[in-house]
Amino acid sequence: MTKRTQPKLATVKGTELINIQQVVKTFSNAAGEFTALRGIDLTLNRGEFVAIIGKSGSGKSTLLNMLTGIDHPTTGKVLVDGTDIYALSESKRSLWRGRNLGIVFQFFQLLPMLNLLENVMLPMDYVGMYDVDERPKRAMELLRMVGLEEQAQKLPRAVSTGQQQSAAIARALSTDAPIIVADEPTGNLDSRSANHIIDLFTELSERGKTIVMVTHDSTMTQRTSRTVVISDGVLVNETIAQALPLLSQPLMKELAQKARQVSYQAGETILKIKEPAQNFYLISKGNVDVVLHKKRKKEVFVSQLGVNDFFGEMELLRGGKTIACIRAADKPVELLEISREDFNWLMKKSPLTEKAISNTVQKRLEEKKQTDKRK
Ligand code: ADP
Ligand code: MG
Repeated sequence: MTKRTQPKLATVKGTELINIQQVVKTFSNAAGEFTALRGIDLTLNRGEFVAIIGKSGSGKSTLLNMLTGIDHPTTGKVLVDGTDIYALSESKRSLWRGRNLGIVFQFFQLLPMLNLLENVMLPMDYVGMYDVDERPKRAMELLRMVGLEEQAQKLPRAVSTGQQQSAAIARALSTDAPIIVADEPTGNLDSRSANHIIDLFTELSERGKTIVMVTHDSTMTQRTSRTVVISDGVLVNETIAQALPLLSQPLMKELAQKARQVSYQAGETILKIKEPAQNFYLISKGNVDVVLHKKRKKEVFVSQLGVNDFFGEMELLRGGKTIACIRAADKPVELLEISREDFNWLMKKSPLTEKAISNTVQKRLEEKKQTDKRK
């Protein structure tokens, strides 16, 4: 068998790779109907390391199954690198999956009668990748990478749950697929092994692979390049989830409904100094400059804020007028605008968020004081 080169999907980091459009999934069984995904729109780019988080039962695994083509949406489309995967026949889709995806299932699904090494080699056999005599060597390398070199000849049931999980991860990497999809890959691992797996995923994403990882462990998301939150089959606004991570999911959802999306051109002023404060803002795209105006209109740059930062809180929490001018930096900016009234509602509903925002206010006042001194 000949060596296959890596599919072209792996190239051009940062461009759109996965496009989920209006996906609805309804399960029907004897007990009736249940809609697990209720209109999901999501675009993932090449080289992203994405965490999908949400409570148990929120639809994470169902969403992942829509991506892998293992289950099919009730309505909606899934495009991967332009291929409408549900327009493919079952057998073509299966081959497509083998070539393009490395999958770590929530319950591993190692074949019980094959040892770990053979399990890792299985996908290579399936898509006919690498010379036959090269496969064991490559599988062994992958097992070494996840710390299982010594267990290679053992059957799955002879090793621990965590080791089975690590073997499943090695298997997902075996065909060098451009997309790795993993359902709770660190769920059964101690924190050291879990960190090792995250290191591995980070490195792979830096080399251009796209990693989509479902987890209910929100501490994992500090290591990923992007976090998507799902709640009751609906995606939660990413800017809100990132900027205000201490909000409960229902509050995130409610806030998303209250917030308005606004945009500003490069260089455009968003908040004028000394005007009554009206809104709280979360940045979803671009950067803003914070500047002070000194005597004779001399401008002093204080800082720049970027995606998932917020501003306007100082004035709303302390009352009064805008103390700095905020304007879009050198590119257009997209913001979520939250009215004073809704901001106050939010602070009441989430004391933890209020505390976090107050801490930011303290830090920023300190920063402003330093800038004032410099004059
Ligand atoms: P998560 O992975 O976030 O824990 P799942 O995606 O597995 O959640 O499930 C989402 C919801 O869909 C749950 O309420 C679950 O009971 C339901 N569900 C999942 N698979 C099926 C199925 N095959 N038949 C009926 N209901 C299902
Ligand atoms: Mg699940």
